[in-house]
Amino acid sequence: MSNIITLVGRPNVGKSTIFNKLTKTNNAIVADVPGYTRDCQQGVCKFENKTFFIVDTAGLFFNDDEVSNISEANTLEAITESDLLMFVVDGEEGLVSSDIEIANNLRKLHKKIYFVVNKIDKVQKDIVLSEFSELGFDDVTLISGKNGSGIKEISGKIIANIEEEIESDIDEDLNLAILGKPNVGKSTLVNSFLGREKQITQNKPGTTRDCIKLPVIKYGYKFNIVDTPGVRRKSKTKNHIEIIGVIKTLKTIEASDVVIILIDSLDGITDQDLSLIGTVMELGKPALIALNKTDAADEYQEHLLTYGVDTKLKFINYIPIHKISALKGVGLKKLLSVAMKIYNNSRLSINTAILNDIMQKAIFDHQPPAYGGKRIKIRYVHQGGNNPIRLIIHGTYVDKLSKDYLRYLSSYIRKKIELTGITIFFELRNKFEK
Ligand code: GDP
Repeated sequence: MSNIITLVGRPNVGKSTIFNKLTKTNNAIVADVPGYTRDCQQGVCKFENKTFFIVDTAGLFFNDDEVSNISEANTLEAITESDLLMFVVDGEEGLVSSDIEIANNLRKLHKKIYFVVNKIDKVQKDIVLSEFSELGFDDVTLISGKNGSGIKEISGKIIANIEEEIESDIDEDLNLAILGKPNVGKSTLVNSFLGREKQITQNKPGTTRDCIKLPVIKYGYKFNIVDTPGVRRKSKTKNHIEIIGVIKTLKTIEASDVVIILIDSLDGITDQDLSLIGTVMELGKPALIALNKTDAADEYQEHLLTYGVDTKLKFINYIPIHKISALKGVGLKKLLSVAMKIYNNSRLSINTAILNDIMQKAIFDHQPPAYGGKRIKIRYVHQGGNNPIRLIIHGTYVDKLSKDYLRYLSSYIRKKIELTGITIFFELRNKFEK
């Protein structure tokens, strides 16, 4: 069971609004990736120290045109691949026949379904409840996506059902995921690691939903390649959003310790790459970037690539970037050695005294700017956990520390502690002075 929940319902019932409310509290780190847009497809929700992922679907239409067929196919695949579903209906409009149809179809899947009635700000709750009781859901959450009421309640219900995050076992081999857009060379790289001409991704649909781990020994390194079975469908339509890709990607990221993000050197840094990088960072997963197909890049492509790296990736300079050729086997040994190093970094326990010493020096060099005339005082810092590395800052008005200042702190820490490939998350805890 993974922590992915898919929003389902007719169009315009308010799924996107709920999605935005659930994901809005997010860490600002990804805002540093230019071109990264949270495009209402997927997002992280953090609630009471637990994390879950939400996938918003286009909605179920019942039309026969091409656009709705594609959207519907994607929605259906997302529904099939997810473990948890949130079925949203419109309280203002009331029960309509397609709600009944959707409910019946969802039930057949035997998955956990959270039933949510949205837009209840304008209607009488008891009337809504009795109207929708026909659908037969025992547990109903009344929500107003618009004013936010009920959002906490539904978050609470979701986290009650999701797994605790398990600290990775120190003795375990590295679980490595290889991700990237279609045709970037994922299979080629995997085959190159496996040393045989065999596609690992051709699993039959319906065999298993869990991630599989393929043990590999290469260049003296022992690790597992993480793959998620599923129908591997290549997009036929250019604008087609591959939700199957989203769910598969999320599950793979969840199950891995380190992610290699493959980028096609012939295409430069694309929005699709940035979106993937953003997702990996949002999840705080240790990562490295491999620029593939460097063997085939001409001068112009190389120039574009360098420009893309310098402009679009400069804010995430702690993520190492390596040039490889999966096809020719160039740069792969180095790539693995860096992945191993990142894995070790991700398991680091930072000594509290050393951490505070670094922070004091950072503060001495550059005081946090006051916020609205109030002095921000950092008292002490300790590590809250790894995977991702969380540093908890205690002090006065520390919740007002600016994003710029936090970025300054994290780069200061990085100068003293080896944290290549690791995103640092700060948790800010105020202690108000009397
Ligand atoms: P996937 O969809 O990400 O799994 O991509 P594939 O591994 O199927 O590769 C897509 C195409 O790119 C294939 O024709 C590969 O031969 C080619 N390819 C993959 N890696 C390289 C590389 O390093 N150099 C070159 N020139 N071509 C590559």
